[in-house]
Amino acid sequence: MKLIPGAVISYVVLAAAVDAHISRGSLSPQDGHYSKQGMSEYQYRRRATISNAADMASLTDPSQECQEYNYPSSKALSGKYPGYGIANIVDGDDQASKVWSEIQKSGIIPNSVQKKGATSHHYGISDQSSNSYDSDKDPDCWWTATGCTKPKHDNIGSDLTACPEPNTWGLTFDDGPNCTHNAFYDYLSQQKLKATMFYIGTNVKDLPYQAQRGLADGHDICVHTWSHRYMTTLTDEQVFAELYYTMRIIKDVTGVTTRCWRPPFGDVDDRVRAIAAGLGLRTIIWSHDTDDWNITPDGDLSTSKIDSNYQSIIDKQTQNKLDGHGVNVLTHELTLNTMGEFQKEFPKIKKAFANVVPLTACFNVTQPYVEDSYQYPIFSEYISGNVQPRGVPSLDGMPEIQVGSEMTIVPEKQQTGQGGFSSASKPATSSDSTSSSEASALASGKSGVSADEKEARNKSSAYTVTYSFLSLLVPILMTLTLTDF
Ligand SMILES: [Zn+2]
Repeated sequence: MKLIPGAVISYVVLAAAVDAHISRGSLSPQDGHYSKQGMSEYQYRRRATISNAADMASLTDPSQECQEYNYPSSKALSGKYPGYGIANIVDGDDQASKVWSEIQKSGIIPNSVQKKGATSHHYGISDQSSNSYDSDKDPDCWWTATGCTKPKHDNIGSDLTACPEPNTWGLTFDDGPNCTHNAFYDYLSQQKLKATMFYIGTNVKDLPYQAQRGLADGHDICVHTWSHRYMTTLTDEQVFAELYYTMRIIKDVTGVTTRCWRPPFGDVDDRVRAIAAGLGLRTIIWSHDTDDWNITPDGDLSTSKIDSNYQSIIDKQTQNKLDGHGVNVLTHELTLNTMGEFQKEFPKIKKAFANVVPLTACFNVTQPYVEDSYQYPIFSEYISGNVQPRGVPSLDGMPEIQVGSEMTIVPEKQQTGQGGFSSASKPATSSDSTSSSEASALASGKSGVSADEKEARNKSSAYTVTYSFLSLLVPILMTLTLTDF
């Protein structure tokens, strides 16, 4: 089988680097930051002075930013989440078990798609699995093998890739929140830039105030899994847990329930997509890659190589080689170097591309979250300067971090309202003071919440997680007899 070059590099070279970056952002001694083990009692006392997201955002010294800190719910949260390894459902977590059981019962997971073989610690695909896969037929729509983004199985939306708007750079940063990001987020604010942030669950749990800043600054937050592994190599339950606990920590920390995710290394197939869709998550890949994660000194590529990767994307725009659409670029909030690299390149990007926008604007998504009180600007609004979403709390107005907050999960195909990430969602036309769905519904005398979402929310349950799969179940059962389940 032929692997996509980027993916080959990823799994051959990245194992050690990923291990380092996902465990605690850039908290490695060579960065001059403090390791967990190296903290003195004085430092422990000092970290307690950080008590909210505004305090954290005001720090300018990266070594201070990367001090560990306690927050009111930190102990309570610990028992409710997996550790730093591959996620599984936590013992006694009845909410997660219930959601998982409903996804399984719904029949959305295609049982013809096998788990792929893994290299060490699931940071790559085994040669045996790669070689034995029929990439000509590509029955699993396995991106790592073929770049496939249009599922071969029913009831799963296609992956989102290039930004459809011409002359437009879709701005995305993976692997955050990073403890050293204040200067970078300050820069984005100064430049009036919003981005789509793909956060790693363990980072959100360790760095909740930094995650809150992402929302408060007007970025949109998506899931980037709990432990950053090759997802196609994990069991069904592990795939579920990697996504579910990342959604849950983002909800507990920021109050929003995300509807989008990006697979680490792009490693996704129809089995993984289906489980994500069951959780209400749309799969987002990228159209262009900078390989910035591999920049020296943490990685193997020189700064000039990463510069030229950026330049080749810019050249495609200036040479009219983008077929009338924009780009969705993979860049990282991984180290000070990856963040600095974007800042260095931005003037050139801005010169070549008329618009630099988050994916919400690219795809006219006004409601990236289940909670419809948050309203993001559509493309036309964003490029006319209305870049700030409505309903987002300010840095000093963030809600308390909650353990086990109520989280409504609506499967992807049931998200039929306006302006969502879902493939079943209707296009947004505006994000005026009331939500577009609310506005049209008010005009027709109905509630702005879609019937399916309403059903999901109204279903009272002994659990704080509510879940509705009934309306999806019938069509799935009907197609089961016709397909290869
Ligand atoms: Zn990543």
